[in-house]
Amino acid sequence: MSAKKVSYFYNPDVGNFHYGPGHPMKPHRLAVIHSLVQNYGLHKKMQIYRPYRASAHDMCRFHSDEYIEFLQRVTPQNLQGFTKYLSHFNVGDDCPVFEGLFDFCSMYTGASLEGAMKLNNNCCDIAINWSGGLHHAKKFEASGFCYVNDIVIAILELLKYHARVLYIDIDVHHGDGVQEAFYLTDRVMTVSFHKYGNYFFPGTGDMYEVGAESGRYYSVNVPLKEGIDDASYVQVFKPVISNVMEFYQPTAIVLQCGADSLAHDRLGCFSLSTKGHGDCVKFVRDLNVPLLAVGGGGYTLRNVARCWTYETSLLVDEPISNELPYTKYLEYFAPDFTLHQDVLPRPDNANTKQYLETITKHVYDNLKMCQHSPSVQMHDVPGDAFPLQEGSGHDEMDPDVRVSQADEDRRIEPANEFYDGDKDQDKAGDEAA
Ligand SMILES: [Zn+2]
Repeated sequence: MSAKKVSYFYNPDVGNFHYGPGHPMKPHRLAVIHSLVQNYGLHKKMQIYRPYRASAHDMCRFHSDEYIEFLQRVTPQNLQGFTKYLSHFNVGDDCPVFEGLFDFCSMYTGASLEGAMKLNNNCCDIAINWSGGLHHAKKFEASGFCYVNDIVIAILELLKYHARVLYIDIDVHHGDGVQEAFYLTDRVMTVSFHKYGNYFFPGTGDMYEVGAESGRYYSVNVPLKEGIDDASYVQVFKPVISNVMEFYQPTAIVLQCGADSLAHDRLGCFSLSTKGHGDCVKFVRDLNVPLLAVGGGGYTLRNVARCWTYETSLLVDEPISNELPYTKYLEYFAPDFTLHQDVLPRPDNANTKQYLETITKHVYDNLKMCQHSPSVQMHDVPGDAFPLQEGSGHDEMDPDVRVSQADEDRRIEPANEFYDGDKDQDKAGDEAA
């Protein structure tokens, strides 16, 4: 494959947020991944950006004003004053109020939004934001550790330039927030591969959820059972995506790379290796369509770090050694200190060959119903979310700060001088369960 221009978005502060003691979602994983990416030298193969921070206005492109205002105002200290809103916005146990919650949302959402804009303006072929991918967030409420749906906001930006956007989700959980947002339109096709059944979260995503009205047949669901291994997963992933490409012909793709579909995930129940998971990412990369790759779930920290580091190497097309480079987090990877872990075949792969063939056939039959890929007249294209060249959009949040071209250039980090001052933290809390 020809060399692709890759943009990578990372805010050095994004790893410092804490959902709370014992909570499986650990933003710290992002610092660990970045450290591996740098120490493998992968930063030399792409443009590294300290991303734009999304404003409340950007978030309200999808979410309701009341919900975003609540996220902006609520803190662990003033929580008592918001009691009646907590259940209304589904904030509490799974989605706790933690210190800096809105800043966290602003960072991961801004990175996906800027990635979409860079793709729209042909500044890169692939944009990577491992801090994004929070696919459960709904218009009016938080869900499944997700508050603001950065994916929906990035797709809305892509739709300014692209007639058809394909969303692919390989997280172990159904990509319900993204599917719901685009359930009635044919301009976005959502394709989710996930565990379904036995009340597995979020409970949606059976194969009969196909979209409605103009969006009928443009929501694709591949419900899978526990224990699926690399061979079975690929058996269904590749034909489904090939058929989707043939029938839908998207001009941009967003890929949610949730790593809770890996074997031994703290919350997941699939049995994929990093190589099998990465095969899906490589397959999508090789479709040669502008691509925004985002993170998502992933609750066994060392394996999430392995997975997204490996997938960064696949996206920049640079092979990396199985021996992990030295980082300050090296001890997390004891005792073998390798990138890839052997995954033993599980006797409880509940997905028979026949079951997978049935699902693949069902998806194919539905895709045939959308014979004509929709096109739209792209006149009256709305402007970009913020000026990409001149400013970084900080104007919206802070009217006194205007970012000059020189400042913009500085945001592109020199290859070997990237920030290295993040603090080691929360080691004791990792993988507590
Ligand atoms: Zn998940």
